[in-house]
Amino acid sequence: MAKYTPMIEQYLAIKAEVQDAFLFFRLGDFYEMFFDDAVLASRELEITLTGRDGGAEERIPMCGVPYHSAESYIARLVEKGYKVAICEQVENPAEAKGPVRREIVRIVTPGTVMDARLLGETSNNYIVAVVRSGEGYGFAACDISTGELYVTRLEGSFELLLDELNVYSPSEVLGSAALLERIRSGAAAWMKSAVMTPRERDGSSAGGGLSPEGHFSEAQLRSLPEGGRDTLALLMEYLQETQKRSLTHIKHIRVYEPSQYMVMDPFTRRNLELVETVRDRSKKGTLLWLLDKTVTAMGGRLLRRWIEKPLMNRTHIEERLEAVDLLYRQLIVRDELKQSLKEVYDLERLTARIAYGSANARDLVALKASLAQVPKLRQLCETSGSATLAALAARIDPCQDLMASIEEAIVDDPPVSIRDGGMIRAGLNARLDQLREASTNGKQWIAELEKHERERTGIKSLKIGFNKVFGYYIEVTKSNLASLEEGRYERKQTLAGAERFVTPELKEKEALILEAQEGMVDLEYELFIQLRDKLAAHIPRLQQLAELIATVDVYQSLAHVSSANRFTKPEISDEYELLIEQGRHPVVEAVLENGVFIANETRLSKEDGSILLITGPNMAGKSTYMRQVAMIVLMAQIGCFVPAKSARIPIVDRIFTRIGAADDLIGGQSTFMVEMMDIQVMTEKATAKSLVIIDELGRGTSTGEGMAIAQAVIEYLHDQIGCKTLVSTHFHELAHLEESLRELRNYCMAVKESGQQVTFLRKLIRGAASTSYGIYCAQIAGLPSRIIDRSYELLHAFEARGELLQGQLQASAGESGERNEPKPPPQVKESEPVQSGQQEVVQLSLFPIPEEKAD
Ligand code: ADP
Repeated sequence: MAKYTPMIEQYLAIKAEVQDAFLFFRLGDFYEMFFDDAVLASRELEITLTGRDGGAEERIPMCGVPYHSAESYIARLVEKGYKVAICEQVENPAEAKGPVRREIVRIVTPGTVMDARLLGETSNNYIVAVVRSGEGYGFAACDISTGELYVTRLEGSFELLLDELNVYSPSEVLGSAALLERIRSGAAAWMKSAVMTPRERDGSSAGGGLSPEGHFSEAQLRSLPEGGRDTLALLMEYLQETQKRSLTHIKHIRVYEPSQYMVMDPFTRRNLELVETVRDRSKKGTLLWLLDKTVTAMGGRLLRRWIEKPLMNRTHIEERLEAVDLLYRQLIVRDELKQSLKEVYDLERLTARIAYGSANARDLVALKASLAQVPKLRQLCETSGSATLAALAARIDPCQDLMASIEEAIVDDPPVSIRDGGMIRAGLNARLDQLREASTNGKQWIAELEKHERERTGIKSLKIGFNKVFGYYIEVTKSNLASLEEGRYERKQTLAGAERFVTPELKEKEALILEAQEGMVDLEYELFIQLRDKLAAHIPRLQQLAELIATVDVYQSLAHVSSANRFTKPEISDEYELLIEQGRHPVVEAVLENGVFIANETRLSKEDGSILLITGPNMAGKSTYMRQVAMIVLMAQIGCFVPAKSARIPIVDRIFTRIGAADDLIGGQSTFMVEMMDIQVMTEKATAKSLVIIDELGRGTSTGEGMAIAQAVIEYLHDQIGCKTLVSTHFHELAHLEESLRELRNYCMAVKESGQQVTFLRKLIRGAASTSYGIYCAQIAGLPSRIIDRSYELLHAFEARGELLQGQLQASAGESGERNEPKPPPQVKESEPVQSGQQEVVQLSLFPIPEEKAD
């Protein structure tokens, strides 16, 4: 076995504690890495790999980064999903016997980042812990950069867990290895960027430190759901192990029920492009992008959370709408709020840095400036005329005492470093003032000395300077050396054209000045830490304030966007019916380059039909229309106005969408299989209060099977679930379902044809579409009725062939299907267009006769 030097032995012992992290091992002015760490780091960071003798025969691979620029290297590694353990020298090398004692002082992981450079300003950085408990999961999500902590219990299926993970998009997940593996394989490809950190709960440390029993109150722990305590313990133990400091800003546990919020599965969130686009995962072109006119970073993050978690409680939604409504109308109040908010910094992260012990004097000045705005913000809310804002104002604690403490202690423009002095105001501390005076006097004395020495020697160019190595010195050029009095000056340093000297009295003064300066810097640091600790004792007040200010910011943002985009206040109802008058798609409308967005009506009710079967050629606007309905419902439930002339929105418990599938292919699943799996979840989870949207149901398999499944699914939704449903399909034949399903209505997107030219009218009209619309348009264009009649006659003759086959298919699908009450396959009358609503429906079957048959 190789025998290493004591230092390398020490390295290996520490490295054994952090197998899954790079160990940044402090050696003087460098952090060094050895062995495999060095090889990998040199590759990832593009730094030179060297070697070092370590006692063994072979040289040990080594690479290093200077300590002063370590932050950026750490950031790069963490961004790539690695963890970095920082190991410092914890005793003075001069006093050490043997190798200097070293300890890991912090482990930086993707989920526990505090560095502003690594944190997106307007998104949270969550670490999630999951623990299997009974028939469900304990779930805790924490953002240590803001101190937010959410805990819930997910009862039942694994899908729920995936849904919830998707809400937070964590950058790190803690849980048992088996559970993490399941998450990894269950999550969609685009959700897999999170680092999985396998961990079981370590029972041994249950009593102490940050484990729930020590960190939180008994009352808080009692409020946790089943499994919550274990989950929180898992999380807090990990945080303590990696952060190795008190996390006093993580004190408030927000326990919630998943049923407080609308459920959306990961695909639905993605399909609706709530916070990132499908194509390039950017914010531009999303609902968040459209609605985000917040002016504070915390407002931006809160808005994102609102969009991710639409409410289910009518009173809460209406409270939000009331505030938005007021600010929508009161332009002056809104503008004043906005001006004031612009002066507010990121209070959440400032507060977290104070608690974490990483805030500098500039952070405190930013906190002071933010607090200065609070009285005005509170007064604006109080007098706005909105009950919601007034209630919010009543909860605002302006924290003016904290502002005063900062004002009293810290200068207006302090330096970044807290180790170099220059932060504390004169008059705060008598001892500091004395030291400052001593230092200033000393410097004055030196200036005087320079004058005297010039006079005494007659050397005009004589000067007194200072450097770190020699301290103060008298500098004389070579040509003037002869004028110096013999024996009075002691030579210290020789330069090319000059000599430097000291005198005993200069050395004496120097000692006093340096002592005063050192004392000043130390005392300033001490005073600063005192102040920071004092503020840290008020973290909960500051956090509550931050949240209230963020809420005001979101209200002004929603009001601003609603007014700028002609949105209207929706009526929230407890009824079944969903009514949208002249609805628009907010984002498509906003990015439409030419032309105007065509508004469309939506009425989903038991009487007027709760299932819309929408046909029409590609590009007609079907999917835009269906998404627009989902968007409007979602916007209403986050408390925003909606793009419509008027809207009556029932509270929807779940939006389910099945739209497109292009990138599921990455996951190795066939489009059709993915669709079927999604439909399975839908049939299991959808309720009468859900909104289901399926684009091009049944594509991806043979025409016959696709159509059979589509029909069976629609029947199931109709008979068994009764949810509001929008389905688009290429299978125009399915239009016959209107006859057998009481709540199904045929709709199509109107298209105008003239000659070869087809114009999409983007108007939703009653009736089923044909692929070509030829005859219908010919009729509208006023062609002689003889031609029209003859066209229909021929068309139906063509079609009869197709229907014969289709009838057989439907019959066989009905036999093998899972319907509880099988109905005979509906027959479409031959040679006769189906009449439906105001529109004439032309029952066409222009696509090819199915080549394959279902079994
Ligand atoms: P489909 O789903 O029928 O293939 P889309 O909904 O994708 O069609 O619409 C195609 C394009 O038409 C959209 O990208 C959009 O630019 C435009 N569009 C859709 N609906 C409207 C509308 N109501 N008003 C204006 N343009 C629209």
